[in-house]
Amino acid sequence: MISLDQHPTGRHFLQIPGPSPVPDRILRAMSLPTIDHRGPEFAVLGLKVLAGLREIFQTRHPVVVYPASGTGAWEAALANTLSPGDAVLMAETGHFASLWKKMAERLGLQPEFIAWPGNDAETGLPNAWRRGVPVEMIGERLREDRGHRIRAVCVVHNETSTGVTSDIAAVRRAIDDAGHPALLMVDTISGLASADYRHDAWGVDVAISGSQKGLMLPPGMSFNAVSPKAIEASRSARLPKSFWAWDEIIDMNRGGYWPYTPNTNLLYGLSESLEMLLAQGLPAVFARHQRWAEGVRNAARAWGLPIQCADPAVYSPVLTGIVTPAGVDADALRRLIHQRFDLSLGTGLGRIKGRMFRIGHLGDCNDLTLMAALSGVEMGLKLAGVPIAGSGVQAAMAFFASNPAPMPPATPASAD
Ligand code: PLP
Repeated sequence: MISLDQHPTGRHFLQIPGPSPVPDRILRAMSLPTIDHRGPEFAVLGLKVLAGLREIFQTRHPVVVYPASGTGAWEAALANTLSPGDAVLMAETGHFASLWKKMAERLGLQPEFIAWPGNDAETGLPNAWRRGVPVEMIGERLREDRGHRIRAVCVVHNETSTGVTSDIAAVRRAIDDAGHPALLMVDTISGLASADYRHDAWGVDVAISGSQKGLMLPPGMSFNAVSPKAIEASRSARLPKSFWAWDEIIDMNRGGYWPYTPNTNLLYGLSESLEMLLAQGLPAVFARHQRWAEGVRNAARAWGLPIQCADPAVYSPVLTGIVTPAGVDADALRRLIHQRFDLSLGTGLGRIKGRMFRIGHLGDCNDLTLMAALSGVEMGLKLAGVPIAGSGVQAAMAFFASNPAPMPPATPASAD
């Protein structure tokens, strides 16, 4: 165990899929003195971040901010809209979808979990953990539900445990085609501000997100973006809620305040993050993540190691899961890489623990930080004696060199 004051030289390589590295500009903004959260200055900050968040979620409707991790915003989504005993349709796409289902059970809801059946021949891992939401099954199930017992469809946009995204617009179409009134709730905790997410255009009723991923902030803040239909549902929903209740928060947010003490310094950071993301523009933010993801996948292919996501149409731009050969403990490999190179990789979670590791490529990265991370992985694979087909580092270098990132708008020429 290393103590914090024995930290190795140089920056730690935080290559997990969130928390992601926090840019210095955001760290500096967060170090400003805490101000009175009921004073006039605060309202300027509050109104600014609430407006910026609406742009990031691509919504005209309210975004509720909680001083809580993403799990809190999951609970808020369910507690605000549903009543004890309500049926909810959820899709098993990985560990986070499974945790959300467990929460629904604990809250007294009746979740129904649908999933791609069976195990995959290539890796022996569950098919459901290598694919996106089974949209056709959702449509079928909703058509069968003639009495409209199902009150909500809950899906994960970017399943952080596997590196698989789901087609949210297609889920919306499946609900509409079935003529079903269920609410659509989407966990985009690791999707927002990295993977394309369009709250209003995709007809999402409640979106859940968190600070520590694409927004490049420390953990500790989470969000619900809510549609008018979700707000309507919250008026008659009977699950107990007080801290999570949207009504008082939305009401006080109109003036830029919160009904309780908000996390002021994280809001300073959020204000900075929103400026950075919106100045770059969302299409450029999404493109940057797609390009990094393709570079990392090139490395995986060159190593000859399967990518956890079996469907190229839904590869995650945020992280890549890499499956280790049967008999190789992926966690032992991660520990070795951490110990030797001060590089943190994401662990396999739940049903795929020990069989895979995850490389995060989100937020404040660039080609060279990713190349360093891939070098650490490749050195670790060799040290652990994992057979690899070729050099992933060479493949990723070739990809990044021959696919330049779009240049930022004109900068002055350098002196040389
Ligand atoms: N959902 C997804 C997709 C996540 O990635 C996470 C955390 O990584 C969570 C939910 C839980 O969020 P938190 O750990 O911030 O409570």
